[in-house]
Amino acid sequence: SVPLAFFSGIGAGSKRGILFKGGVSLEAMKNVKAIVMDKTGTITKGNFVLQKAVPLGDLTEDELLALSASCELSSTHPIGTSITNAASERNLSVVRPDAVKELSGKGICAALPQGEVLCGNRKLMEEYHVDLSGYVKEDYGTEVLTALNGKLAGYLIIADTIKEEAKDAIQSLKKYHITTAMLTGDSTGSAEAVGKATGIDEVHARLLPQDKLTKLQEIRKKHGGVMFVGDGINDAPVLAGADVGAAMGSGADAAIEAADVVFMTSSMEAIPQSIAIAKATGTIAM
Ligand code: ADP
Ligand code: MG
Repeated sequence: SVPLAFFSGIGAGSKRGILFKGGVSLEAMKNVKAIVMDKTGTITKGNFVLQKAVPLGDLTEDELLALSASCELSSTHPIGTSITNAASERNLSVVRPDAVKELSGKGICAALPQGEVLCGNRKLMEEYHVDLSGYVKEDYGTEVLTALNGKLAGYLIIADTIKEEAKDAIQSLKKYHITTAMLTGDSTGSAEAVGKATGIDEVHARLLPQDKLTKLQEIRKKHGGVMFVGDGINDAPVLAGADVGAAMGSGADAAIEAADVVFMTSSMEAIPQSIAIAKATGTIAM
């Protein structure tokens, strides 16, 4: 049975679109000392838009974009979707690959008529031994490198926007003396830009999905009870590994299933609101 006080907390939550899956999550939430968040889709909107495509070899800009879009055709990652959207806006013809391999936290490898195409970050290029010596990193946006038959063909710059309420939500958590941290698979440059704009205490970039869980455990050792807020399929293990796992309603089904709490509005305001509800619920119960 669920104690009466929990019902009031669950009711207060539902009015704000905060879905507590049980009383246990409310109880655990009272003792949260650190809140660890994913970047893409949690702190940022995940509405990536292509800013530019820069060929580094023989391809034209449109050829580079069409090649990258063909590679990303089956991807459900917001980065992949932004690339296929940009190609269709320019009316470029894309080709369905014969075979696709998705490397979690790195990108995509696809077999296309032109040859083997890679689309992803530096880790992906390193794994396939693509020479990046002629490439200079841009200092804004998320970079997607594209390689054709083992050679760098160019890069795409994609920008995401920070949620309007993110900074205020982070500030509100400081009132509760809760440490905030961001974990992301994205590059150090774009991660630090988001960290600075929102005032998050700690920023950890270039993490693979499995590294996120290790990092979470380190933070828990240092600070105590930890809540993780995420949205992606990749986030399911970290959500399950945290004392409280919270998923954005806009997130992947796997994330919502793994979570103890769901923020239906996908607003970061729900983070301090849920803490406030948990603390108030405790007071009523005593
Ligand atoms: P986050 O932790 O920010 O939610 P992910 O773990 O989903 O990010 O992805 C980490 C990084 O892996 C991305 O920033 C990107 O560099 C790369 N990546 C993942 N999927 C793709 C894809 N489909 N195409 C290109 N790059 C990708
Ligand atoms: Mg994410």
